[in-house]
Amino acid sequence: ASFWAKVPQAPKDPILGITEKFLADEDPCKMNLGVGAYRTDQGKPVVLDCVREAEKRIAGNFNMEYLPIGGLKEFNDLSVKLAYGDECAAIAEARVASIQTLSGTGSCRLMADFMHKFAPDATVYIPSPTWANHHNIWRDANVAQTSFRYYKPSTRGLDFEGMIEDIQTAPSGSFFLLHACAHNPTGVDPTSEQWSEISAVMKEKGHFPFFDMAYQGFASGDCVHDARAIRIFLDDGHQLGCSQSYAKNMGLYGQRVGCLTFEASAVESQMKAIARPMYSNPPVYGARIVTTVLGDEELKELWYKEVKGMADRIIHMRTLLRENLEGIGSSLPWNHVTDQIGMFCFSGLTPEQVDELANDHHIYMTRNGRISMAGVTSGTVGRLAEAMHKVTS
Ligand code: PLP
Repeated sequence: ASFWAKVPQAPKDPILGITEKFLADEDPCKMNLGVGAYRTDQGKPVVLDCVREAEKRIAGNFNMEYLPIGGLKEFNDLSVKLAYGDECAAIAEARVASIQTLSGTGSCRLMADFMHKFAPDATVYIPSPTWANHHNIWRDANVAQTSFRYYKPSTRGLDFEGMIEDIQTAPSGSFFLLHACAHNPTGVDPTSEQWSEISAVMKEKGHFPFFDMAYQGFASGDCVHDARAIRIFLDDGHQLGCSQSYAKNMGLYGQRVGCLTFEASAVESQMKAIARPMYSNPPVYGARIVTTVLGDEELKELWYKEVKGMADRIIHMRTLLRENLEGIGSSLPWNHVTDQIGMFCFSGLTPEQVDELANDHHIYMTRNGRISMAGVTSGTVGRLAEAMHKVTS
């Protein structure tokens, strides 16, 4: 028998399960709306022009030596400015420190491992619902977790009162995980006024806000606007943590480029002490691409334009999906399709309706009814709307 014969099969990742079913489907019109990756209106993956140009500039000009444990310094400096703003006092006064991470997942995991080590009795407050991997990350880091109210199924919008109440009743000094923008999976974000109120209550309670920002620029198309929650919290004098990912907004998915920022202190040395035995140092290529793009005014402008192009295409698909649903006579409310923002639409479809979409219409999405709007095209939106209408009427 194999040395590992006693190891049981791990449960399948739900997203991979969808991809497998999609691949096995032989219908030529099949649609995969499960994976959270941007596609063009022709349904193809993209490499941004700013990234291609950065690649040209990098090619042949760098060796492949290791980066330091904390990654490329220029990359970290440019990243924190992108998140916190060029004018941020905390940056000017060197009150923040950053380390390059293995994309957003790596940032979250590092934060979680740090919590386990230095706040072993802490509980992480996670929005309900959230990106499924958040639960796995903090579970594997052995940090206790509980959820706070976020989404209200009846309105398919924010449960603002519930959220505030849960923030208020959490023990003072609790750790809160917040999605900076384009909440996954719901596409529901607080307004600026609501963020201000959330910030005030969290400040009063002495909670620690940790922002997971995996979609800066992808929500509104404007990287500054999408960082407003973080800037509101900074203005209110919070000390916060921030995870950034360049997977979606720069299309660097597989390059694993991210950044984790926290207040400058011994924390930085401890983050490195956790990273060193885990992966030693982060990958260099993606960090050079980001540094080349953000460090050059012209390329940065081009990137801003390209992010806006992606966000606008998604927003346009939302409009078309809603128009199509209303146009074919669905009497259900579909305003949430256009009210929500970012890559995903939390459609309100039940697991049974999602199964019916897969089995009868060759359309695949997660069973919580989350549609990856980035996978919808002007060529497929009509068929999606018809199928959604059929399974909901
Ligand atoms: N956080 C959220 C909310 C996400 O939706 C994702 C990606 O789907 C991530 C973090 C991390 O992605 P990555 O590790 O590819 O940067």
